[in-house]
Amino acid sequence: MSDKNSVKDFVLSVEGLTVSFDGFKAVNDLSFYVEEGEIRVIIGPNGAGKTTVLDLICGKTKSTEGSIKFRGKELTKMTEHAIVHSGVGRKFQNPSIYEDLTVFENLELSFPRGRSVAGALFFRRDKEVLEAVEEVAETIFLHDQLHTTAGLLSHGQKQWLEIGMLLIQKPDLLMLDEPVAGMSVAERKRTAELLNRITKGRSVIVIEHDMQFVEDIAHRVTVMHQGKTLSEGSMERVKNDPKVIEVYLGH
Ligand code: ADP
Ligand code: MG
Repeated sequence: MSDKNSVKDFVLSVEGLTVSFDGFKAVNDLSFYVEEGEIRVIIGPNGAGKTTVLDLICGKTKSTEGSIKFRGKELTKMTEHAIVHSGVGRKFQNPSIYEDLTVFENLELSFPRGRSVAGALFFRRDKEVLEAVEEVAETIFLHDQLHTTAGLLSHGQKQWLEIGMLLIQKPDLLMLDEPVAGMSVAERKRTAELLNRITKGRSVIVIEHDMQFVEDIAHRVTVMHQGKTLSEGSMERVKNDPKVIEVYLGH
């Protein structure tokens, strides 16, 4: 990875980011930088401000101070919709898939041309859409389940489907909040494999507590505590940092 001076290499630059909820700073003067092709994992105790950081990047929450630059564009003043449109995809903790539709239909609906449920169901299943659906289904290990009703999938498969629904929109930055919570060990391994496959030309930010999973995916780790960066670097480095052991890993 290149050093921090080559600013143009950063897909995302977060600087001095602060949000105050009635005087309580959930995120407090936070700065971090993510490169293209990087998987960044954010860890830290409950209440550290991790989810709030994703809320700020995707525009769900507006910052009090600071800057979020994504491919040179300032996101802090953009609407949620415009942020999605500029190439930021965010997965929330609970899957929001259409349980009554098939895997195929869920992916097809998420293809960027499908604006609404009704509109999407009637647009032509042309070659481009079909190919995109098949490619994503392969990536998320659901190629054999394309015609399965989504409600019948396992919890892990539903999580993968939701990742697929984001992937089909080809985001340059993908953000996932605790994607392996509730998954079996085997599903966690496959999710790590999935994430390692999709970094070409994009960046991924993942919030996670499962340290084995973090080791399997993280290029760099940012440890948050009380809205600030407590430590940052390789997994090897942060897991041996006495401050991290004291406030997080030691518990
Ligand atoms: P984490 O994801 O690291 O567990 P969060 O980002 O969810 O932490 O929350 C950080 C802190 O900010 C918590 O104390 C939480 O209660 C508070 N918080 C988050 N969102 C809001 C909000 N919209 N209004 C008030 N307080 C909030
Ligand atoms: Mg959280």
